[in-house]
Amino acid sequence: MNGPTPAAARRERILREAVRQGLLDPEQSLLAAFVDLDGVTATVGSLHRAFGRVLPAPGLVLHAFAAKANCLVPVLAELARDGMGCEVATAGELARALAAGFPPDRIVFDSPAKTRGELDRALALGVAVNADNFQELSRIDRALAGRRPRSNIGVRVNSQVGSGTIAAMSTASTTSKFGVPLSDPGTRRQLLRAFRDYPWLTWVHTHAGSQGCPLDLMARGVAQAVEFAEEVNASLGERRVVGIDIGGGLPVNFADDEIDPTFDTYVEYLGTHVPALFERGYQVVTEFGRSVLAKNGFMAAYVEYTKSAGGRPIAVTHAGVQVATRTVFNPEAWPVRIEAHDASGAAKRGRSLRQDVAGPACFAGDLLARDRALPPLEPGDIIVVPDTGAYYFSTPFHYNSLPEPAVHGVRVGEDGRIAFTLLRPAQDAWALPDHAPEVTVIRRPVDVVDRAAR
Ligand SMILES: *Cc1c(COP(=O)(O)O)cnc(C)c1O
Repeated sequence: MNGPTPAAARRERILREAVRQGLLDPEQSLLAAFVDLDGVTATVGSLHRAFGRVLPAPGLVLHAFAAKANCLVPVLAELARDGMGCEVATAGELARALAAGFPPDRIVFDSPAKTRGELDRALALGVAVNADNFQELSRIDRALAGRRPRSNIGVRVNSQVGSGTIAAMSTASTTSKFGVPLSDPGTRRQLLRAFRDYPWLTWVHTHAGSQGCPLDLMARGVAQAVEFAEEVNASLGERRVVGIDIGGGLPVNFADDEIDPTFDTYVEYLGTHVPALFERGYQVVTEFGRSVLAKNGFMAAYVEYTKSAGGRPIAVTHAGVQVATRTVFNPEAWPVRIEAHDASGAAKRGRSLRQDVAGPACFAGDLLARDRALPPLEPGDIIVVPDTGAYYFSTPFHYNSLPEPAVHGVRVGEDGRIAFTLLRPAQDAWALPDHAPEVTVIRRPVDVVDRAAR
């Protein structure tokens, strides 16, 4: 049998230390999440180097992290320190990006539903804006009222190059809700006219989808955007389009610890399939989310009970739909790995048994894995769910009033010492929200429990 990968060995060391320090505890802290901040810095470095090789002037590219992938303010602040910008899709994400310290001119605001107020705010701050549709373009024109914007303003185009393997995540389908569809009859001409009418419109934005899009599909989408930009510039006889925002969507390998594809591979693809992107002096914005964070985070949860039903062993754990919403509702599209550890955090090895790994929520589909071969799990064991740094614990689902788990940042010193910092405190399951009517009558819910006990 092969030994653990370096990444698995690192998770194991982090987990053992977390147990030792009481960050995981079978009574007090049943579920916790970890973000490897050293790993984040290394990944961001690899992103900068990959594009740096083809865009030698550093000012030509802005890597804007897609905030929805992990919107914790301390995580965003770390990414800001690592030299990234930030892509936001809602007012809430914009607020978080500003709180994290991103300068407004390193923030890109994409959303298909920006209100007038949100547009005014973004334009006043100098945040870059990508308009989704023609109505939004005319709203922006009215908001500017003839003034020259401080913001870079672009329009999102739908290249309509097709869907990836996950329909819900594919934004370049023929009928996608995002962007201006480039090959619908008449829209290309209408968009050219918009560029003629709006001198402030200087960027083209595209994003083919998130996870499940093969690199050649992504590259073809970018190629469509660049081709359209060239068409605008040729037709206006000026360098009107100065930049291309190529979106994010680099898929992540959830099968093992290998980073595949890498940013280098994607840049090579772009260089081959869209040479004009790098050769015609365009500024470039990227919007990667999952590929920056997914493999730099994991969560860990206790096994509370084990049982058997219809001959199938089942481990009931404390990680389920509240932190793995997509996996639970769409398991084929979003499989996650599970690693079995004992109560000390040490990896369990040896013979494996096919078992279901269930979450704590009250519906039958709350399963992280079905019929998965793992060393036999027992009560008090800990399961680790790797690759969950993006779109998992950072965006919890409040079903069954399950509390948000704590998120800890992790750094490993040169001497091998592991240091944790709290990125998000755990929610207290017993703390009712302020607006709950009971709170006005009975201060704390524990009083209810105490009184019932008396
Ligand atoms: C979600 C999204 C991204 C990030 O996608 P990832 O797959 O996380 O890289 C980037 N841009 C836009 C417009 C998005 O909607």
